Amino acid sequence: MAKRVYLFNEGSKDDRDLLGGKGANLCEMTNLGLPVPYGFVITTPTCHEFFEAGNKLPTLLEQEYRVALDLVEKRMGARFGDPDNPLLFSVRSGAPVSMPGMMNTVLNLGLNDEIAAGLARKTNNPRFVYDSYRRFIQMFADVVLGVDGKLFEHEIEQYKQQNGKVLDVDMTAEDWQAIIDIFKRISSFPQNPFKQLRKAVEAVFLSWHTPRANVYREMNNISESLGTAVNVQAMVFGNYGDDSGSGVAFTRNPSTGEHQFFGEFLFNAAGEDVVAGIRTPEPVEALRARLPEVYDELLQTQALLEKHYRDMQDIEFTVQEGKFYMLQTRSGKRTGRASIKIAVDMVNEGMITEQEALMRVSPDHVEAFLHPMIDPTAKTSIVASGLPASPGGATGQVVFSADEAVEVAVDGTMVVLVRRETTPEDIHGMKVAEGILTELGGMTSHAAVVARGMGVCAITGCGDLTIDYTAGTATTASGIIINRGDVITLDGTAGEVMLGDIPKIEASTSDDFQVLLSWADKHRKLKVRANAETPEDAAKALELGAEGIGLCRTEHMFFESQRITAMRGMILAESKSERQQYIDKLQQFQHQDMLELFKIMSGLPVTVRLLDPPLHEFLPHDSTEIEAIAGQLGKPVKTIKDMTEHLSEVNPMLGFRGCRLSVVYPEITEMQVRAIIGAAIEATELGFKPLPEIMIPLVVNVREIRLVNEIIHRAIIDVSQEKTVSIPYKVGTMMETPRACLGSDRLAPAVEFMSFGTNDLTQMTYGFSRDDAGKFIPEYLTKKVIESDPFVSLDQRAVGRLMEMAVRESKARKGGIKYGICGEHGGDPRSIRFCHELGLDYVSCSPFRVPVARIAAAQANVASKGEA
Ligand code: PEP
Ligand code: MG
Repeated sequence: MAKRVYLFNEGSKDDRDLLGGKGANLCEMTNLGLPVPYGFVITTPTCHEFFEAGNKLPTLLEQEYRVALDLVEKRMGARFGDPDNPLLFSVRSGAPVSMPGMMNTVLNLGLNDEIAAGLARKTNNPRFVYDSYRRFIQMFADVVLGVDGKLFEHEIEQYKQQNGKVLDVDMTAEDWQAIIDIFKRISSFPQNPFKQLRKAVEAVFLSWHTPRANVYREMNNISESLGTAVNVQAMVFGNYGDDSGSGVAFTRNPSTGEHQFFGEFLFNAAGEDVVAGIRTPEPVEALRARLPEVYDELLQTQALLEKHYRDMQDIEFTVQEGKFYMLQTRSGKRTGRASIKIAVDMVNEGMITEQEALMRVSPDHVEAFLHPMIDPTAKTSIVASGLPASPGGATGQVVFSADEAVEVAVDGTMVVLVRRETTPEDIHGMKVAEGILTELGGMTSHAAVVARGMGVCAITGCGDLTIDYTAGTATTASGIIINRGDVITLDGTAGEVMLGDIPKIEASTSDDFQVLLSWADKHRKLKVRANAETPEDAAKALELGAEGIGLCRTEHMFFESQRITAMRGMILAESKSERQQYIDKLQQFQHQDMLELFKIMSGLPVTVRLLDPPLHEFLPHDSTEIEAIAGQLGKPVKTIKDMTEHLSEVNPMLGFRGCRLSVVYPEITEMQVRAIIGAAIEATELGFKPLPEIMIPLVVNVREIRLVNEIIHRAIIDVSQEKTVSIPYKVGTMMETPRACLGSDRLAPAVEFMSFGTNDLTQMTYGFSRDDAGKFIPEYLTKKVIESDPFVSLDQRAVGRLMEMAVRESKARKGGIKYGICGEHGGDPRSIRFCHELGLDYVSCSPFRVPVARIAAAQANVASKGEA
């Protein structure tokens, strides 16, 4: 039979699974020779035995812990249950994974009437003893007997009122004794200390299944099968007198990461008083003046612990009658900024390796440097929530249309654009907005993709809102009306909407941030490119470390006002010659834009995707728009209306998109290729080094590729005639349909690269519309129908398997193909890890995600090599 009880000198920090985090660290500190009140740990497997036996402690357990208890008594020089020299215990839970405050604790265990009287005599401090005794009765009743703690608090309040007392410090020993008599009437408890201990151990095990513990585990993905250990530790008392107290501290500042000891101390108080926040603690430096030796010991201990654990520690300690005791140490929670500073400093101090430093930061924290973030200490009241489509914090006046956004923002007023959804028509408004909030749309809807690309904070799929454009209001689910002109704040990182202007922490990078990224580049295999089409986005991407453009969505280049008219003219043309006229216009725009991109990305690959316009994004939606377009194109309203109806699709996401357009209108593709290669020639002549990669979207079979390839090559020959330079271009395809993945071996001979478009691939694998999924995904997540949003984190079981098969089978058919991913998943750390394991060559993501992807790619590599 396995050992169930470990004394504190019998375990180590590596025994977390067996002894729980708290127990393992108490053992480790004991072995380090630190002043830890002695005790023992009952193991987590005992917790399983307890539940398996129908909530019964194993028969031999009591005998086992009594042996340990004898040894504790010897070491502490006091006896459990001895009125003349009593030893008291704390009984605490401690799971292998930290679950702060989720489970139960009983303090001062071992007191009864006789022992309290004995202890009062011995200590000559009856006030302290009876205060401790009443606390014990209260806790035992609450935790073990399930009596509502409020009943006791109520009695104390009533007593104070009747007896002219205000604070706890006004209560004398006699007052507490009177309270104890009242408490005993509310709840009886065992006077036998051993019975108290048995019941408390049972209660700690049972607390593994309290509703709050269950919810916490679910929220934090902690397995129910872990179970909790029980820590039984000799009590020391911070509330013993003025030379006693309790403190909590961090070995470094958890908000900024500064290497500066940081903590708080409350004189003459138990640890629970510090946590409860009833009195305001003093900075830990207060100890220096009043108890200098304790302060020195504390300083030495914290430094030793940090060095030993090689990480910032969060410690709890107690001082009793001028003697220092350590009660707990664990890795301290910290902000994103602090995590980066601490990781870099610790490498510089020789404490950890670069690889370990990389593993200690959350890639998402890196984004905190790039956008203003809602101040975590700010008081907020959330009025609506949706999907966290684009991170950061933004405040502005509410506007309900793109035109209004531009009008209001013209004098520098900050605006938040609130729409049911966005379309290419809204781009001018999106550009000037601080934040974008949409009622509909998922994580890859137009609003989400465009906002992320621009680095503008956005929340999509905010179904809590009902927007009325005519009234100029957005009404929340609880009936709060947000009017045009009201100031609201968006937290795009959390997907939360708040009223008013909430304080933010401004974006700013630091030297540490750059150093960490340089280490990431050293330790990663995956290349990181950006999805970008405008010169500004491309320049930003380059600045943030992109190694080329992985996806240039050419249709996005035609969103601007003049261009969208030409684009619409092309879509709504009634004859080939009319179409050609608009195509020629578009070619000029395309050429200029490509030239800019090639200049910025000189020497780096630029993947240009052939036009893939979901047509509905470009067509007019109502009669006002139809009239406007008719005016712009110089056509009768009826013609535009008829054409729009003719072109409107029942299911545009599965409609006339991608390479289907090239097959039907080869002249559009010809124009694009002429512009791309023409611009590359001009860039070369200007001394730049363009590396264009032409990408064919939404392919389902190799014949599409062959057909489009022919158009591409014809156009290249055409544009290269009489030119002296030759462009090193590549042609490849996007893997966006399940059929393309399933038939990748057939596609392989026709392509030089394959880039997974996992937005569409997810849409088509699930049959969840990208534009409509925002309506039900939040509910699916709440009800746990799905574990995570498949448009955010790649579904490895389905989409991932298609990708794995596509890579394997195409590689088997032809070597030398380059593989990448350019769906939104290319910026998601979990998905990046999968891409690393799959052996892809690069990931491509929005410019602001590039640093995140660099860190995530390094973490994937370090983890797979087991280097940290
Ligand atoms: C994709 O489908 O993953 C993709 C990148 O293309 P888009 O989002 O433009 O459809
Ligand atoms: Mg796509």
